[in-house]
Amino acid sequence: MSARPRIYIAGHRGMVGSALLRRLSEMDAGEIVTRTRQELDLTDQAAVKAFFATEKIDQVYLAAAKVGGIHANNTYPADFIYENLMIETNIVHAAHMSDVQSLLFLGSSCIYPKLAEQPMREDALLTGPLEPTNEPYAIAKITGIKLCESYARQYGRDYRSVMPTNLYGPGDNFHPENSHVAPALMRRFHEAAEAKDPQVTVWGSGTPMREFLHVDDMAAASIHVMDLDAKTYAENSDPMLSHINVGTGVDCTIRELAETMMAVTGYDGELVFDSTKPDGTPRKLMDVTKLEKLGWKASIPLKEGLDQTYQWFLSQSGQIKSV
Ligand code: GDP
Repeated sequence: MSARPRIYIAGHRGMVGSALLRRLSEMDAGEIVTRTRQELDLTDQAAVKAFFATEKIDQVYLAAAKVGGIHANNTYPADFIYENLMIETNIVHAAHMSDVQSLLFLGSSCIYPKLAEQPMREDALLTGPLEPTNEPYAIAKITGIKLCESYARQYGRDYRSVMPTNLYGPGDNFHPENSHVAPALMRRFHEAAEAKDPQVTVWGSGTPMREFLHVDDMAAASIHVMDLDAKTYAENSDPMLSHINVGTGVDCTIRELAETMMAVTGYDGELVFDSTKPDGTPRKLMDVTKLEKLGWKASIPLKEGLDQTYQWFLSQSGQIKSV
């Protein structure tokens, strides 16, 4: 590798990709290479091959993906499986053909079986049926892990993968119905505080438990795993089960999240639970033993991360409201 590595972030405009871009730029980690969707269509095999052939990339962060909530996954399953498979296979193969030694693939906790034991360990992969609503997306993400493992096993590439828990932070989707719980509640409490509404409704019973990781912690964990030397990594990794969970290892109830969000937004009205809305799975927590053994732990506490995200939300709220 040259003294100053050329680092390609695929998906630099997404929530995780933009956090990686911020962090790698702050660290002055190397020459960062990015392409917008208009400049490079990652589903176009020839275009991706040509990009790698000319750009002399040393490291790839594969954070590009077609993502969406339960509704989008259910409505457009073909788009989700096709686009994600194409992006992954094009990038991994073209990177290998252009002799890129280091690549990090970013997945999702939805790769685990619907009824996986909690907290979910890496070896729960492929032990049971997936959640049907996002199965095509999950299958594509599992394929991404297996691509990395296969190129590592057959060609000795340092192609690794990390599986984040629920992420939140700047760049999130704050859509009132289609977003995940943290951004949805941030927006709802913010608007209720502004309008001085007496009540705010939170979906479900408030008892389900979820784990929340700030996207800046996710970026830091990704860089940590990318930069692990091959020996340390090999000593802690099974070649046929190589992906690494990224989370805080701590979860909270949706009620606790809502109460924290009240403190963050300064809303002091009443909290109401709408039990006609689904709770989803009772608990979703990652086992992060492997990552901790590899020397990384989350550092942004939930309240602090939500405060920081709220400041970003306020700075963007003109744009966010028009979405
Ligand atoms: P999940 O982790 O895949 O279930 O995704 P979500 O982030 O959408 O939901 C997590 C939990 O938060 C579920 O129990 C929801 O019922 C609950 N929840 C409460 N209020 C909201 C809301 O306004 N939007 C969303 N998405 N979830 C909410």
